[in-house]
Amino acid sequence: MSLNVERIVTGPFQENSYVIWQDGSPSCLVIDPGDDPELIIETILGKGLHPIAVVNTHAHLDHIGGVSDLKEKYGIPFYLHPNEKSVLDGYERDCAFFGMTPKVTPTVDHWLNTGELKVGDFLIQCVETPGHTPGGTCLVINDHVFTGDTIFAGSVGRTDLPGGDWNTLCESLVKAMKEIPGDYILHPGHGLHTTLKNEMLKNPFLIPLLKRVNS
Ligand SMILES: [Zn+2]
Ligand SMILES: [Zn+2]
Repeated sequence: MSLNVERIVTGPFQENSYVIWQDGSPSCLVIDPGDDPELIIETILGKGLHPIAVVNTHAHLDHIGGVSDLKEKYGIPFYLHPNEKSVLDGYERDCAFFGMTPKVTPTVDHWLNTGELKVGDFLIQCVETPGHTPGGTCLVINDHVFTGDTIFAGSVGRTDLPGGDWNTLCESLVKAMKEIPGDYILHPGHGLHTTLKNEMLKNPFLIPLLKRVNS
């Protein structure tokens, strides 16, 4: 089945929220609904979709602002990696740091684990990629990968926020390059989509790590 991916850019950090659905089924997942839930709902309505869950790559303030509104409107569960609890708990503090008014901190219904997760008809391979945050996870669905703020087109996630760690991120990037096929489409938390193959050729943060991928 082929996966449809709609990107909705939300909030002051220009964060990518994604609505995804399979051909022939109205069931959709919402990934990282960062802000502007009304824009996300507009997309869902416009495509005639039926949300079944919110699944997040991580819990930074620019990725979770729309979660509570979507949970309330559709009565759907929220999935997050357990190591993101400290990030989620720091949501109001982080909003104050960036001078933003916090939304309602969402409650987590299911904690993600490494490996396979089935949500409705979606089979999600959870590849743990800590470093940007302690529980950052790449979500592999069919031949698409939602990378959160781990990998961007031409860059990688910052590690100077609470819970971030550069060496851990480097280990995760090596692991991602080993485990995720190069031609899968990467959908980052900010900016345009890319592929790992493309990033391994051009991304200045990945190129120095290539020797560790082949060792
Ligand atoms: Zn982030
Ligand atoms: Zn972000």
